[in-house]
Amino acid sequence: MTWPRRLFLLNAARLAAASTSLLLARPSNAAGYPFSLGVASGAPLPDGVVLWTRVAPDPLDATKTPPLALTLRWEMAHDAAFRNVVAKGSVLATPELAHSVRVDVRGLQSARWYWYRFMLGDAVSPVGRTRTAPAPDSLPDALKLAVASCQHWEFGSYAAHRHIAQANPDLVAFLGDYIYEWGAYRLRHPAPGERIVRRDESFTLDDYRRRYAQYKTDPDLQAAHLAAPWIVTWDDHEVANDYAADRDERLAPDFAARRAAAYQAFYEHMPLRLPPPRNFANVRMFQRYDWGRLARLFVLDDRQYRAYEACPRPGRGGSNSVTPRACPDLRDPRRSMLGLEQEAWLEAGLASSRARWNILAQQTLMAQSSQIPVTAPDGGRFWTDGWDGYPIARRRLLDTLAGTGAANPLVLGGDVHTFYATELRRDFDRPVSKANPVVATEFVGTSVTSNSRPQQRTAEYVAMNPHIKFGRSDKRGYMLMEITPAETRTRFLGLDEVRDPKTAQRELAAFRVEDGKPGVEITAI
Ligand code: FE
Ligand code: CA
Repeated sequence: MTWPRRLFLLNAARLAAASTSLLLARPSNAAGYPFSLGVASGAPLPDGVVLWTRVAPDPLDATKTPPLALTLRWEMAHDAAFRNVVAKGSVLATPELAHSVRVDVRGLQSARWYWYRFMLGDAVSPVGRTRTAPAPDSLPDALKLAVASCQHWEFGSYAAHRHIAQANPDLVAFLGDYIYEWGAYRLRHPAPGERIVRRDESFTLDDYRRRYAQYKTDPDLQAAHLAAPWIVTWDDHEVANDYAADRDERLAPDFAARRAAAYQAFYEHMPLRLPPPRNFANVRMFQRYDWGRLARLFVLDDRQYRAYEACPRPGRGGSNSVTPRACPDLRDPRRSMLGLEQEAWLEAGLASSRARWNILAQQTLMAQSSQIPVTAPDGGRFWTDGWDGYPIARRRLLDTLAGTGAANPLVLGGDVHTFYATELRRDFDRPVSKANPVVATEFVGTSVTSNSRPQQRTAEYVAMNPHIKFGRSDKRGYMLMEITPAETRTRFLGLDEVRDPKTAQRELAAFRVEDGKPGVEITAI
């Protein structure tokens, strides 16, 4: 009997005795447990889903993992007790990819829940639950989608993820800042009142790997991964604050190497369906997912291909706050946020869509958000890292949304650590009219933890920008959406106290978008 075969039989015997309590079980933190980072799934198709794990017996010290290729076994079943296993196999975890694995399981039934787990020697991973997308021609009754972003380790617990797991979503969309590039490498979130020291910035591949491992030890984050498949994009902090394409805010000459290291670590830690890149200098990760004919989700990358931020401070890259009068570059039509290839891909995907809802899952606030009244002599003041720094590209995108005739466009965002509900239109400075209709409805989630500005300031933004119908920056949390053929309902869920992992959540506001009627209808506040 070969060694792996024997191992498998040993595991099978052990697992036959395991109970359904394995489902959503918190992973063991026992020293040396290889699945200390949990498991995850993502990128669901009608016939498949990607499973992920990484062998890390000591999350902060990769040298504790043998520098050898390790064979992991995986199983997928119709039930949490694995009585009815429908697929299984083995996969090699190699040191070159930090002993991370991605298994693209195919041949599954559409619109169905599955359970999965990995095994290494005697060790069995936590059991994850995942599902496939509905059949292409079906019209499902509903899609329950949780949306989250921005989870700086230093700023609180991951209670939002506990609530996401308890909400039983069909799908989780994570819109960037899964890690932040700075903070102490340690396994405990800072206690309430503890002073946050900015240190230990990540630069190398080993640094970024430790960062993901640190974040992924959190049991609530693991629980949200165990609950449903995820679709993910990245924002700046997966690499460095405010970076744009191949340039960071410090104008560091070796930024290309840093970005490649960060991209590789992202690839190693996310359940992405991507062929293994030959190198990580560029990683094409914008993708599209269909939920039958109910929804088409476009997961966008607005970091890798964007033009540099307009009018940075002297000697710097990164963001600035500028007026259109002082920064004519804002009006340069050659400046793109998505890059021309991704813009064309998006337009083709919208034009071919037969979905009732066309959802752009992207990083940041799309609506104009002037910091002073646009009627001021300077014509407003804008933060250049968001879509306000790319107004011509934004107008092009909104024209595409309108011009392709794709049904019911919704834009989802994160990054700004603020809940926003907005109405997107071609010209934000002019009122809604027949010539300037609401093109899409936008919902932006707050952060899972990351800090924000006082609510007083956000209230001023809302007052100055009439297309922003709601704004709330004083609460951390996430969004929960229920998408049906007739309407989409969105709830903004805020935590009472982000530093307390046991904290309760409260609905801060709820909204409805009716099929065929773009705009923000507030149903609860
Ligand atoms: Fe953030
Ligand atoms: Ca960001």
